[in-house]
Amino acid sequence: MNIHEYQAKAVLRAYGVAVPEGEVAFSAQEASVVAERFGGKAVVKAQIHAGGRGKAGGVKLAKSVEEVKAYAAEMLGMTLVTHQTGPEGKVVKRLLIEALSDIQKEYYIGVVVDRQTGSVVLMASEEGGMEIEEVAAHSPEKIFREVVDPAVGLRPFQARRLAYAIRIPAPLINKAAGFMMSLYRAFVDKDCSIAEINPLVVTRDGQVVALDAKLNFDSNALYRHPDIVALRDVDEEEPIEIEASKFDLTYIKLNGNIGCMVNGAGLAMATMDTIMHFGGEPANFLDVGGGASEEKVTAAFTIILSDPAVRGILVNIFGGIMKCDVIANGVVAAARQVGLDRPLVVRLEGTNVDLGKDILGKSGLPIVAADSLAEAAKKMVELVK
Ligand code: GDP
Ligand code: MG
Repeated sequence: MNIHEYQAKAVLRAYGVAVPEGEVAFSAQEASVVAERFGGKAVVKAQIHAGGRGKAGGVKLAKSVEEVKAYAAEMLGMTLVTHQTGPEGKVVKRLLIEALSDIQKEYYIGVVVDRQTGSVVLMASEEGGMEIEEVAAHSPEKIFREVVDPAVGLRPFQARRLAYAIRIPAPLINKAAGFMMSLYRAFVDKDCSIAEINPLVVTRDGQVVALDAKLNFDSNALYRHPDIVALRDVDEEEPIEIEASKFDLTYIKLNGNIGCMVNGAGLAMATMDTIMHFGGEPANFLDVGGGASEEKVTAAFTIILSDPAVRGILVNIFGGIMKCDVIANGVVAAARQVGLDRPLVVRLEGTNVDLGKDILGKSGLPIVAADSLAEAAKKMVELVK
């Protein structure tokens, strides 16, 4: 799960990570009230779930309250297109109004879960502010890493080593190391998958501050962080994926035209592979889970059909915990409810399979039955051709 910059900064502040003073604003009026506190010397920052705002006009430096108000009025409601939003962009609905920082130099710090080492890794570079991917591609020697032993956590000497490596001014090494220790603590405590500070800045008055902050959270751990869940902004998410998450369905949109409804991630992968094997292309990954209800199946079906790219649906269910008759009822109910206008191939196997096939057969709906996954995939690929 993703949150806004101003929310990430509030989370980090609670862990002692230094961030500029600031507040969220939903209108130009609110923005100017916040800016008064800083004597008008403020940054106006568009709050969208995407980076690259600076280059796209989503970060403006103001010298007076009037200027803040004008920038805020201009930015609210505008569609910001950055290299991370996609060409359709994102509408700005919130702003962060922040005290202006007097920057001496910009750095980069990222905390990630590294699959290669199976550990949390701290990355840092003195080339902050710009695209870190570019630095990684063109001058990888400018990115330094510290692998954290999960049993002991980030050690202060590692943080200091990193601060030296990216050439933080000597008098500020301890401050920077302290910053990293707090950032790491927040990362672990809140079950983050990414914590990215780009840029981390050293100011002319000797502060080490997070000028930008991006936090991503592991959705599998959200159940133990109600405070984080409360920060969710559904305006920023894919409507179809929000719908899926309401029903606890794992749905990922893909580029093909064969909609898939499968139970179990492994079987869903195998189904997609088999479709590809016979020359088809899946439109989505959808795992309805082990103990799905009829309602859940109906929701899954509706979600798949709401994608205009879908030319046909392949249902591949192994009835274990979830019985085949429940699936069959769900499929029939959903097909009736949404009006089945595309070919549907169903392959059922497992508990109550005969009952399930009977329900499908008697439904009067044009459902194509298949006995094996290969047969189902072959038929589906033929039908969407
Ligand atoms: P992003 O482009 O979406 O990553 O937005 P950032 O929050 O990283 O801001 C982009 C750039 O705006 C930063 O790299 C800074 O150069 C500049 N910027 C942001 N806040 C301030 C500030 O308080 N003072 C100054 N001088 N520049 C700032
Ligand atoms: Mg940034």
